[in-house]
Amino acid sequence: MKPKDFFKNETLLFDRQSGGELHVLNCFPNTYEVGMASLAYQTIFRLYASHPQTHAFRYFTNAQEFFPKELDLITFSISWELDFFNIFDILQKLQIPILASERDASHPVILAGGPVVTANPAPWAKYFDLIAIGDSEANTNLIIEKCIQFRRNDLAAYIDIPGIYVPSAKQEFIERAKSSNKEMQVSSVIAPDSVWQDTGLVEVVRSCPEMCRFCLASYLALPFRTPDLEGDLIPKTKMLLEHTKNIGLLGASVTQHPEFIDLLKFLVDQKAKIQVSSMRASTVTREMCELLVKGNSKNITIAIESGSQRLRDIINKKLPEEYIFSAAKAASEAGIKQIKLYGMVGLPHETDEDIEATKDLLMRLKNNNKTLKIIWGCSIFTPKAQTPFQDYGVDAKASDKLKNLIRALKPHGIEVRDESYSWAEVQALISRGDSSVGEIMLKAYQMKNTGANIYRKLMSPEDYRYFVFENWEEKTEYPWHMLLSDAQKRVLESHKQDALAKQQ
Ligand code: SF4
Repeated sequence: MKPKDFFKNETLLFDRQSGGELHVLNCFPNTYEVGMASLAYQTIFRLYASHPQTHAFRYFTNAQEFFPKELDLITFSISWELDFFNIFDILQKLQIPILASERDASHPVILAGGPVVTANPAPWAKYFDLIAIGDSEANTNLIIEKCIQFRRNDLAAYIDIPGIYVPSAKQEFIERAKSSNKEMQVSSVIAPDSVWQDTGLVEVVRSCPEMCRFCLASYLALPFRTPDLEGDLIPKTKMLLEHTKNIGLLGASVTQHPEFIDLLKFLVDQKAKIQVSSMRASTVTREMCELLVKGNSKNITIAIESGSQRLRDIINKKLPEEYIFSAAKAASEAGIKQIKLYGMVGLPHETDEDIEATKDLLMRLKNNNKTLKIIWGCSIFTPKAQTPFQDYGVDAKASDKLKNLIRALKPHGIEVRDESYSWAEVQALISRGDSSVGEIMLKAYQMKNTGANIYRKLMSPEDYRYFVFENWEEKTEYPWHMLLSDAQKRVLESHKQDALAKQQ
């Protein structure tokens, strides 16, 4: 069967350049449908493809734009730990050595960016020439300028770009690159074949001020940023509405934008079909839900993490139970049909009583809102670098806890959407790993072994346990130590102590 030509169905919303001397391949290590649903990837593509001195092309695992053999720069946008398999595969298909140390000046510069490598670049360091730490808007033009000047002849020349980590050079500290409020993002392509079909995406907030102790989306992108409604969000949204009625509002915690209700009112006036990413329960009101229903939304998503007040306090969720009930009531009364609650099992300091509390809360919520479909989306806690819970390992009993929840909730009409426990272990391994874990990633790829159990087999039991399960009590040097300032270390430690104090 002929591969589908995704690209011809798109509407490009920016002036794409094609005459520049720098040939750039923007790779997304997953399918076109997933890649074009990523506003971060769309932004990378726009930043490179709109620059007058570049000619940029896109590469997905199932679709590629026609690109020249001679490339100068290849970027990879990495959004989750398990992307490495596809990254190694793409490098191999492009006939580029996977190990950076085996490349020479004739090869393109290979750059990685995204939250996974911004949190902990250590397992990835052997495979990339440059790793972009932080917001891409802050340094892409500088990368282009340097690349025009040096290509791959002198990688150390890139170290003076803000947020650029050059694994082959000596850098004691790399400060994360941060963009301003003005540089928040909006779709640059309307893609009918994206997972967000034919939708214009708008970044409503960046980071989140709540600082739940496990949350990468908050800690890794601080400070919390909100673009101006009149001067920024409305003009951007109007531009999108000229091309599509479908608008997706994105951000770690969109409803915390101070003018979120006004943005919804504007979109309803424009007869837009609105989709919203996860909402914070304490901000959900009847008026907000009614506007969403007018905007054709039939469901909302709220992350509560746990039904236990004790555990929510430990993780700093700042979410009294009444807010969860009032959000569900507001949604139900406004005509929302389905509420998806996100949660986790295996959070640090979780006890069996906390699991019972989750069951109890969800059943009471269902009893109080009989017509509302309730879905419990339950993941397994995995530690993320540069958060206060970076020191905590995976709970080996998490799988049993999850099964216990599923058994209890299903008969009460609550659908549970769970995630694989084995892959949570692998995610934890990579998120806290060092270069030795990077070597295991490569071995797994070379064996073409796509199972989650291979990592355990390739490592000593002590090493596997250390990275995946162990609680790191007195860790002085993290694999990501070069990204932590003294001030950041103090904040992370004090927030960890705050959680410890609350569990006693
Ligand atoms: S409220 Fe949500 S986005 Fe904000 S810090 Fe907590 S988990 Fe992260």
